[in-house]
Amino acid sequence: MNPLEHLGWPFFEPRHRDFALALDAWAQDTVRDVHSADVDAQCRQLVQQLGGAGWLRHAVAGTAHGGAVDVIDTRMLCLARETLARHNGLADFAFAMQGLGSGAISLAGTAEQKARWLPQVAAGQAICAFALSEPDAGSDVAAMQCSARVEGDQVVIDGEKTWISNGGIADFYVVFVRTGEAPGARGISACIVEAGTPGLEIAERIEVIAPHPLARLRFSNCRVPLSQRIGAAGEGFKVAMRTLDVFRTSVAAAALGFARRAMEEGLARAKSRPMFGQHLADFQLTQAKLAQMALTIDSAALLVYRAAWERDQGRVVTRQAAMAKLAATEGAQQVIDAAVQLFGGLGVVSGVPVERLYREIRSLRIYEGASEVQQLIIGRDLIKENP
Ligand SMILES: Cc1cc2nc3c(=O)[nH]c(=O)nc-3n(C[C@H](O)[C@H](O)[C@H](O)COP(=O)(O)OP(=O)(O)OC[C@H]3O[C@@H](n4cnc5c(N)ncnc54)[C@H](O)[C@@H]3O)c2cc1C
Repeated sequence: MNPLEHLGWPFFEPRHRDFALALDAWAQDTVRDVHSADVDAQCRQLVQQLGGAGWLRHAVAGTAHGGAVDVIDTRMLCLARETLARHNGLADFAFAMQGLGSGAISLAGTAEQKARWLPQVAAGQAICAFALSEPDAGSDVAAMQCSARVEGDQVVIDGEKTWISNGGIADFYVVFVRTGEAPGARGISACIVEAGTPGLEIAERIEVIAPHPLARLRFSNCRVPLSQRIGAAGEGFKVAMRTLDVFRTSVAAAALGFARRAMEEGLARAKSRPMFGQHLADFQLTQAKLAQMALTIDSAALLVYRAAWERDQGRVVTRQAAMAKLAATEGAQQVIDAAVQLFGGLGVVSGVPVERLYREIRSLRIYEGASEVQQLIIGRDLIKENP
């Protein structure tokens, strides 16, 4: 199954095809299956490599600030994540976080904030993080408690954030805090907090099944200039949702990349594994498994690039993006599980590609809106559209 075959689909323009082919060749030569025990160091290196080669320019908006385009091209973003995830999950993570971490600045930052941070993010010289979740506010983001008050020309932050990717290695954090202009979602603001600011502490590093930098942050009387607030006071929830809106389809694309790699590995194993005088691939039960894997992948790909294409036409894609994320992440889990099964005992040996994929896919069904949240979005949208 050619993982680049879909580039011939009408969703893409020549620039998308050129981009995906070039990134695929670069990833094959530079990052394919490169892993290190020091995940922080590897992540820093990947950000530098991705920035140095120009790929991160597609994760930020604004040609005046190092971005490839003025409005993020969703198809480019998805092709980047799909391709990188197929070669190396941590490379996809490094790319995605540069976009997600700086997304609020790209979308709602002041000219000064953009000029200060975006060129460094695009060049891979500054690492960023998106700090929204809290111990008691994950799916229910509006329940957040981490608070901030304005004192003179400063914002003073107190509270905690958790599950923060790049926590501990980021140069700056975009932090969402309760500022209390109104109850719930209307009383939240966004703020840039530089690493090393007094009062910001990495309270805990969190070890997860697919290792990447992840931490709980603690803010105690942490003071930042008011000029580091992103957007107006009370507008932070909207800024967070707009950012997630851009990146949700790209999570689906990353899942698609993981699934494609599992297919590639599973197919090669089935064709080469001698069994009962034939090969594993010669049995109809194996062929049925491969057929289901291929069907799941193509269905997910169609949903991912439908959502990306529609978004690039300027349409609202709430339902389409939710469908893409739900189908691609749940489907990738099944495809990867089937690939592990094709490998037999070898499939659960630490470090073999299908074992890594088995660990890597799991959290995509939880973050940026768990599968149940995507189901609710789709259901509610259908009801709203058909009153
Ligand atoms: C590896 C990883 C990286 C992350 N990176 C970041 C980051 O960089 N920045 C950040 O801010 N956050 C990050 N997160 C946090 C992530 O967004 C949250 O984990 C997610 O929003 C779920 O919140 P929670 O973990 O508190 O689970 P909960 O909100 O407690 O939800 C638990 C489960 O409840 C179910 N559920 C949720 N809503 C409903 C419903 N309405 N009806 C029925 N069931 C429901 C779902 O199955 C869900 O998995 C990351 C998480 C992980 C695992």
